[in-house]
Amino acid sequence: MTTLARAPFYPTSHFVKRLEFGCASFLNLARIISSMETLEGLTKIYPDGKNIFYNSRGKFVRDMFVILFSAYAEYIGKNDMKFAEPFSATGVKGMRLAKEGHGFSNFILNDIDSFAVKSILHGIEENNLGGFEVNNLDAFSFLDKLKTLGRVDALDIDPFGSAAPYIQPSLRSVKDKGFVAFTFTDTPVLGTVHNDALVKRYHVKSNKVYFLKELQARIAASIVISEGSVINVAPVPFFAHVFEHYVRVYFQVRASPSLSLDLMNKLSYIYSSECGYASLEKTDVCPYCGKRINVSGPVYTGKLFSNELIRIAVKNAVACKPCYKLFHTALNEIDLPYYYELSRLANILKMQVPSALKIIGLLNRFGYESSPTSFSYSGVKTRAPVSVVKSAFYF
Ligand SMILES: [Zn+2]
Repeated sequence: MTTLARAPFYPTSHFVKRLEFGCASFLNLARIISSMETLEGLTKIYPDGKNIFYNSRGKFVRDMFVILFSAYAEYIGKNDMKFAEPFSATGVKGMRLAKEGHGFSNFILNDIDSFAVKSILHGIEENNLGGFEVNNLDAFSFLDKLKTLGRVDALDIDPFGSAAPYIQPSLRSVKDKGFVAFTFTDTPVLGTVHNDALVKRYHVKSNKVYFLKELQARIAASIVISEGSVINVAPVPFFAHVFEHYVRVYFQVRASPSLSLDLMNKLSYIYSSECGYASLEKTDVCPYCGKRINVSGPVYTGKLFSNELIRIAVKNAVACKPCYKLFHTALNEIDLPYYYELSRLANILKMQVPSALKIIGLLNRFGYESSPTSFSYSGVKTRAPVSVVKSAFYF
């Protein structure tokens, strides 16, 4: 969710506009934009396609958002949580959380664009929502205001491009045990297409790997953990998924220097090769094909998922089949920071792509712990070496 007018270093406007619903100019504008009503989930929103950006393809990501934030409220046993977001655009996330989610009673939305603010206010009125405050600040001023006036329980950071510049101000703006989700849409950088930018923005080196989606999520988790460490905050990964150009990582934020150090100690390297080999064991050449190894890292290699949270999310995801499938797969995923992409192995072996479930069944029968992965439904997570995975193709 972005606004076209967004600029990270826009001169600050230290005022908050709280537009009155009753004012005549607003009603005139409301009449104009009400003709552009769009329904997402149960929520009416008012994008105009020109000034306020709305991407209907992001609906799945927002379905996941509503389920996960509601699940988190349940996880910590609260029903009066305060939610905030600096990049609201149409306000669809906050409004959907209010209408379709549970556990939240206060919603502090913000956008630097005054058109967006008007659209949000119109949406709040049309959806009959209460407990909302709408700000018209640049993101940094908004986050600073949250930190000064009272930290929130949950925050969603969804800028255009990378969330990296907003990590520290965001982590400072939530309470201990707060919940934060970051969106990274600079997938060419996270896809290791622009290596220099990957080093500069994320402090990671890597060439292209076959477990790319998981690596993207882990690079995103790493930068949040590293930025948190500088200010003695531990953002503990609770969930991550990659959909199209959205890399989304969810964290429980803890004010704990020792926990932060534990997370930092899980920043490590993944070694992989063109033949499909992947391992956490240090090596310079591939033990299978003898070619030079691609070293990816340092990236977070610890747990990305809180099973306790996902168990609640699965229960709440019945109405969203792809969400349910994703949560269910994540819940049963073995704890390894990479997967084997069967389409890649099939290409090497010049064979048809087998069913992931068939290969997983065989590998488990061979005695290797194996599971599907929520990052790729044609991928396999297994403790078996790549040679054994390849041999399973012939059964
Ligand atoms: Zn190799």
